[in-house]
Amino acid sequence: MGQERAVSGDPPRQRPRFPAGLQPAAAAAERRPQPLRPQRPLAEAARDAQRRTAPTGLGLDTAAVRQRMIVRLRADGISCAPVLQAMSHVPRHVFVDSALAAQAYEDTSLPIGLGQTISKPSVVARMLEWLMLGDTARAQGHLGRVLEVGTGCGYQTAVLCALATSVVSVERLLALHELACRHLSHFQLPVPCTLVAGDGMLGHAEAGPFDSIIAAAGGEDIPLAWMEQLAVGGRIVAPARAPNGLGQVLIVVDRLKDGWRRTVGEAVQFVPLKSGVA
Ligand code: SAH
Repeated sequence: MGQERAVSGDPPRQRPRFPAGLQPAAAAAERRPQPLRPQRPLAEAARDAQRRTAPTGLGLDTAAVRQRMIVRLRADGISCAPVLQAMSHVPRHVFVDSALAAQAYEDTSLPIGLGQTISKPSVVARMLEWLMLGDTARAQGHLGRVLEVGTGCGYQTAVLCALATSVVSVERLLALHELACRHLSHFQLPVPCTLVAGDGMLGHAEAGPFDSIIAAAGGEDIPLAWMEQLAVGGRIVAPARAPNGLGQVLIVVDRLKDGWRRTVGEAVQFVPLKSGVA
């Protein structure tokens, strides 16, 4: 289905640890020893020092700001250690427009173009925490084979890669699919990750069944294709219209041996799940 792009190399040679590490290529360059240059002009030395703490030229120490985001998530009730650890490693500012980078670690959704938004960190964390509580995920300590619907800018895809054994992520807007390909190409992802340009309402049967399915866009209901492509023991976490018809809620679907169990969670606000590609 659709146009597929693998953004990571070969499958890992050894079983990954969870959450697995995620190293931006820039971080490796940063670790290269700096030549000693005595008696440099002070301004030049100051510029170098700034670059060391802010490799992206943001003017802020992103690791420290990210750590403060993790402290806030904990205070908000997120307690799943692998999720917190994964989010503490993924530089969210790399995935948003540079004009918005200073807001990247606030608990806010941000525009990513074409009327779409990157979800708030607290919502990403809450959904991943729910996903980690599925039967298979709990037994294995990781999300296994993941299908993500709505790649957007690729931020959540990167977080998922630190929690899964493989990730397939589908995006219906070609321009955002391309953007996510560009963003994720900056990272050495720890597990195989395939980005697909296509209609995620259909799932991605050729790579299924999946242990975990997560959607960042909400429709009328959970598409049947996702329920069918969910492995026994697997879990879906996705927004959908509230049973009373007013707004959206998070829906959790677990696949049991003899059917599906559906749980309705908290009220949320996601962009619409639309069919077709554009
Ligand atoms: N997790 C993303 C959030 C993106 S917003 C991030 O970190 O950036 C939700 C995305 O879902 C949008 O990019 C939208 O285009 C996409 N979307 C909506 N309906 C879709 C569908 N049927 N298939 C695939 N993607 C869809």
